[in-house]
Amino acid sequence: MSKTIFDKFLSGEVPVDPIFENDDVLAFHDINPQAPLHVLVIPKSKVERFARLCEWDDAQAGRFFKAVSEVARNLGLEEKGYRIVLNNGFHAGEEVEYLHAHILGGRKMSWPPG
Ligand code: 5GP
Repeated sequence: MSKTIFDKFLSGEVPVDPIFENDDVLAFHDINPQAPLHVLVIPKSKVERFARLCEWDDAQAGRFFKAVSEVARNLGLEEKGYRIVLNNGFHAGEEVEYLHAHILGGRKMSWPPG
């Protein structure tokens, strides 16, 4: 499995400015924001993508999604709402092969997504 930029953030090889960190996750602003607030949450225990979540136990998976929810709350997005995106594979436009949840907020979003 080759090292992604997110592996390098976690190892310290590439610096990152976290907005949230706990034992399970690291969260930071997306370099190319698609909304006024665009944050990525990555697990410290690597899984390549959502489709491989079965490699985790239930508690790990639960802690990841709870952390995503906590980060969104800390960003003040609960009242107006926000979107969570998990791009899985080629058709979804996944670029980085390391599970990450996008938190997008701060504007009204359309549906269906492009
Ligand atoms: P994906 O398309 O794989 O779901 O999303 C990958 C995300 O990672 C993209 O939104 C992209 O802008 C973001 N990204 C890629 N490289 C970097 C980086 O070096 N720093 C940060 N903060 N975000 C990155």
